Amino acid sequence: MHIYRNTVDGTLTEPANHYEIFNPANMQSLGFAPESDEQEVDRAVQSAVDAQKSWAKRSDQERRDIVQKVAHILEENSEYLAELITREQGKPLSGLGSRFEMQACVGWTQVPASLELNPEVVYEDDERKDTLHRVPLGVVAAIAPWNWPLMIAIWQIIPAIRMGNTVVLKPSEYTPIATLEMIRLINQVLPAGVLNTVTGDGNIGSKLTHHPDISKIMFTGSEATGRRIIEASARNLSPITLELGGNDAAIVMPGTNIKAIAMDLFWGAFLNAGQTCACIKRLYVHDTDYEEVMSELSSIAGQMKIGDGMDESVLIGPLQNSMQFEKVKELISDAQKNGCDVREFGNVPDKGYFLPLTLVGDIKDGQRLVDEEQFGPVLPIIQYSELSDAIASANGLEAGLGASLWAHNTADANELAPRLEAGTVWINQHGAIHPMVPFGGNKASGYGVEFGIEGLKAVTQGRTISIKK
Ligand code: NAD
Repeated sequence: MHIYRNTVDGTLTEPANHYEIFNPANMQSLGFAPESDEQEVDRAVQSAVDAQKSWAKRSDQERRDIVQKVAHILEENSEYLAELITREQGKPLSGLGSRFEMQACVGWTQVPASLELNPEVVYEDDERKDTLHRVPLGVVAAIAPWNWPLMIAIWQIIPAIRMGNTVVLKPSEYTPIATLEMIRLINQVLPAGVLNTVTGDGNIGSKLTHHPDISKIMFTGSEATGRRIIEASARNLSPITLELGGNDAAIVMPGTNIKAIAMDLFWGAFLNAGQTCACIKRLYVHDTDYEEVMSELSSIAGQMKIGDGMDESVLIGPLQNSMQFEKVKELISDAQKNGCDVREFGNVPDKGYFLPLTLVGDIKDGQRLVDEEQFGPVLPIIQYSELSDAIASANGLEAGLGASLWAHNTADANELAPRLEAGTVWINQHGAIHPMVPFGGNKASGYGVEFGIEGLKAVTQGRTISIKK
C-alpha cells in the first residue's frame, strides 16, 4: 500500500510515522498518510526560512510567471487530483464536486498571479513624498480544513508565495493525501523550500503555529481552534487571517418567484453535502411561501442521486468523517425529538458515512439544528411573518460569515442588505465567491479577508518610505 510523503526543502521526506486513510464512501483503504514529528516541523520551518530571502529578492514578474506555471501544473493534473479528492474527501467527481474544486484551484492561482500591487504614493507636497510599499512577512503557516482541502490550501498558499513569502502548510489530518500530492506536483516548478508540508493533528498544527520563525498564520477551520490560533500568534505577534465557521441565514422575501430560485437555494444549502463554510444553514421563508418552498425543495432533493462520487451520475457524496457524521445525526434526532417535520430524500448506500438529504420544517430559532452549525446535508426551514423579525433572527447568532436575500426586486433586497451582519451578503445567490472579491467573516466567523488585492495585502506588511524634498 502506498505511503504518501511530505515535501520539505523540495524533497519528499521519509515519515517518522504513518496512518491509514479510508474512503468515506466505502471504507476502503486509500494508503497511508505520513505523520510528522516535532523535528519535521522544525526542518520544514527552517527550510522555509532558508528559502525566503532569495525568493523575496526575485522580481515580482518572476514570481508571477512561476505562479502561472503552478496553475498550468494544476490544470494538467486536475483529473488525477480530482479523483484523489473524491476518494479521500467524498465529494463527487461530477457537478459541483471535485472537478469543480480543481477548476477553482486553477482560477484562484491564475488570478493572484495576474494582479498588480504596486507601491502607492500616499502623500506628496512641496516638502515631502511618502510611498507605501508592500513587502513580504516571511514564513507563513497555513492550516487547512477537510471540506475543500485543495481549494482552501490554494487560497492560503498562492497569495503568500506570490508576494514573496514562503510557506509551511498543514492539511487536515482527515484529508492529507490529495493535498500532499498537489504540493509534490507544484514543487516541480518552485524553488526548493518555498512550499513545504507537515502532517498530523492539532498538536502538530499547534507546534507549527507556535514556532518562533512563523511570521503570519493563515487559518481556516472551526471557531474553537481559531481561538487557540490567536493565543499561538501572541508569541511572535504574528498577524492572522482567520476564516472560521458560519451559520449563514438566507431570507426569501415575500413576492419572490419560488420556482425560479429553488435550484439555487438547493445548491446554496447542499453544496458538498452541506460541508461548506458559506452554505445556507438556516432558511427563513414567509408564512405564505412556506408550503411552496418545502414542495419545490422536496422535489429537487428527491431527484438527487446519493452515493460513491466516482459514479458520474452521483451528485451528493458522504460526510467526510465519523465525527461529522455522528454530529449531524445527533442534530437531526434532536429536531425529531422536538416534534419538527423531518423529511428525508434519497437512497442511501449501506456502507460509508451517508445521510439522506433532509429538510426540517416546523422548527424555530433556539433549537439546536438552527443555532448550531450543522455542516451536513440537512436544512432547517423557519417561517416568519415580518421581514424585520427574519433579519433579527439572521443577526441573532454569533456567526457572521455569509447571508443572502432572495427577492423579485433586487433593489428592495439591496436596501436591506447592509442590515445583515455578515462578511458577504449575497442577493439572489449564496456562496458565490470569486477570486477578485474579498471574502471573510464578521463577528465570530473570523477576521481578515482573502482574495483579490485585499487578499494580497493580507500576506504583506506595509513599509512606508518618506522622502524630504
Ligand atoms: P478544525 O478547526 O477542527 O481543524 C482545522 C485545522 O486546524 C486542521 O488542520 C486541524 O488539524 C488544525 N488544528 C486543530 N487544532 C489545532 C491547534 N491547536 N493549533 C493549530 N492547528 C490546529 O476545523 P475542521 O473541522 O477541519 O473544519 C470545519 C470548520 O471549518 C467548520 O466550522 C467550517 O465552517 C470551517 N470552515 C470555514 C471556512 C471559511 O472560509 N470561513 C472554510 C471552510 C471551513
